[in-house]
Amino acid sequence: MNLSCQSCGAQLVVAGNHRTTTCPYCAAPSVVERPPTPDRPAPTFGLGFVQTPQKARELARENLLRRSFWAPSSVRNASVEELRGIYVPAWLYSGLAESDFSASIGENYTETETYTTTENGKTVTKTRQVTKTEWTSLHGRHTEYVPDVLVTASSGLPNDELEQIEPFDLRALRRYDDALVAGWISEDPSLPQEQCLQQARAEVTTLLRKRLSAFMPGDSHRNLEYSTRFHQESLVVCLLPVWVLALRHDPQSPPLRFLVNGQTGKVHGRVPTSWVKVAIAVLLVLLVLGGLYLLLFHGQTLPRGRGR
Ligand SMILES: [Zn+2]
Repeated sequence: MNLSCQSCGAQLVVAGNHRTTTCPYCAAPSVVERPPTPDRPAPTFGLGFVQTPQKARELARENLLRRSFWAPSSVRNASVEELRGIYVPAWLYSGLAESDFSASIGENYTETETYTTTENGKTVTKTRQVTKTEWTSLHGRHTEYVPDVLVTASSGLPNDELEQIEPFDLRALRRYDDALVAGWISEDPSLPQEQCLQQARAEVTTLLRKRLSAFMPGDSHRNLEYSTRFHQESLVVCLLPVWVLALRHDPQSPPLRFLVNGQTGKVHGRVPTSWVKVAIAVLLVLLVLGGLYLLLFHGQTLPRGRGR
């Protein structure tokens, strides 16, 4: 059965007998049926769940919800029964990145410098070794094959959140078949492929700055600039096992989302701060300080005052 979230746009696929009424990504209550469309690419690869539901719930409870003392009690004590295993669609990108670069390369050399100083009231001339850098400009081309960049294909799970539970061990990747997702919720890609491609290229471009920096000769370099062209790109849909807990603890704010990597158990989630708890703690500290002040100062000054 195909369902669509009105709130975050996720395109959910659930077993025919298993009709979800709330969105696992954003806890929106209105998930409606949509007709299947032929233009959504079928997954090519998938990774299986390794973490059991019990283990995932334990990780979510101990490492996410209970972790922060300052979290609102409604979040700390939230039920992890709503934690759901989802096959999240992602694009697996690989490509050949060809970069034209330019940089200033610094070569260090030492020079003997003559200087004058005052010693015992006399002016003396001395020498010392100083390190100097000679800068030359370098232009060149760097070609590198960049494999296995994952970017989200789900409008329910932003890429920066997916990155927080990466890496996945892609050695366990296998060809997709329906048996993989049987009994689970899975999602069809809900972000445009072109947008995901740009995202993947942007990730590669960021990565290349590190690679090019390491590639530069000389003792140091500056003004590194590069432009990259992409060739032999491949982009396939891959289903990733993720446990998701979406909480709407406050109707005014966006849902809280807690993630557990279904393969490695890595957790991610931002726990909000309860300002009521903070205010109570501040008040308590002030009361204790006030009490100490009264004890120490009045306790000492009063008898002296009486003595006068
Ligand atoms: Zn949703």
